[in-house]
Amino acid sequence: MTDKRLLTIGEVLVEIVATTKGDGFRAAQPLIGPFPSGAPAIFVDQAARIGAEAAIISRVGADDFGKVNLDRLAADGVDISGIAVADDGAPTGSAFVRYRGDGSRAFVFNIAHSACGQLELTREAEAVIERCSHIHVMGTALSAPGLSHLIKAAIVRIKGQGGTLSFDPNLRPEILDTPGLRSALGEILAQTDVFLPSGDEIFLFTEAQDEAGAVKDLLARGIPEIVLKRGAKGASHFCAAGRTDVAPLAVEEIDPTGAGDCFGGAFVGMWLMGHPVEEALAYANAAGAHAVTRVGPMEGTATRAELDQFMKDRTR
Ligand code: ATP
Ligand code: MG
Repeated sequence: MTDKRLLTIGEVLVEIVATTKGDGFRAAQPLIGPFPSGAPAIFVDQAARIGAEAAIISRVGADDFGKVNLDRLAADGVDISGIAVADDGAPTGSAFVRYRGDGSRAFVFNIAHSACGQLELTREAEAVIERCSHIHVMGTALSAPGLSHLIKAAIVRIKGQGGTLSFDPNLRPEILDTPGLRSALGEILAQTDVFLPSGDEIFLFTEAQDEAGAVKDLLARGIPEIVLKRGAKGASHFCAAGRTDVAPLAVEEIDPTGAGDCFGGAFVGMWLMGHPVEEALAYANAAGAHAVTRVGPMEGTATRAELDQFMKDRTR
């Protein structure tokens, strides 16, 4: 059997990080970056690094921030033929991030008005969709109207030709009030083969009051596999055959941004390459833990050999 090819669609950005903790950006301060970023970009980079065939559809500006991303993704083995370079002067998206003392984050975003805010179905993007047999949907990408439309069209095509779908809501319940977002997410969930919620996101689509009830409800509604991310507490996989847990690896958390995306990219990548659940879960858990040890959202992606070593170093 040939490997299945994975596609994701969504934002490609640079992230610029304040080197000190504090409340936002109201004074001049030291910064480090640009780092390649964007949840779908981090996901697809990790999937490619673990060995999966992986592509992304996005749009960047004709500028250095775009080049930083294109170069990194290509070097890590991602098919970037579906990333358009804007010819209308739109810049690459960006996010400035500063951590507060309590671990929360202050952001200044330029995404909606950046190159990836005006994503269109180009001929190259269409060719990529044609080649792919799996689509990964990031909930965050669905809040942009143009993007949402494109993602839905790609789902129809890929599921229509017998492909599969994974879905990471990547949304905290507070921001679900965007008009139309909850119903768009519900439509995606109904077609999901692997659902990857994080923490309380397991309750986004169920009335159940506890985790076991939520899992039971979602499985009964026909979602074959659920992978629950538990941050520093590890992760669990649920399906009709039962439950599989993985204990967290002991790491020093330097920068938690991107852990969930690396976890997802590793899990879905391994799953598509046909590895058993226990193995996919172990690598995903290691990829998430590895990600938090590095500054910069995409800096923590890792190859399978690197993750083997990382696990070995922590289980002796
Ligand atoms: P994001 O902020 O990127 O959206 P998330 O909330 O989706 O992250 P997390 O649950 O924070 O995802 O992290 C994903 C996985 O990474 C966890 O389930 C776990 O396997 C691993 N992980 C994350 N943080 C840690 C940590 N501090 N120690 C060990 N493992 C971790
Ligand atoms: Mg997440």
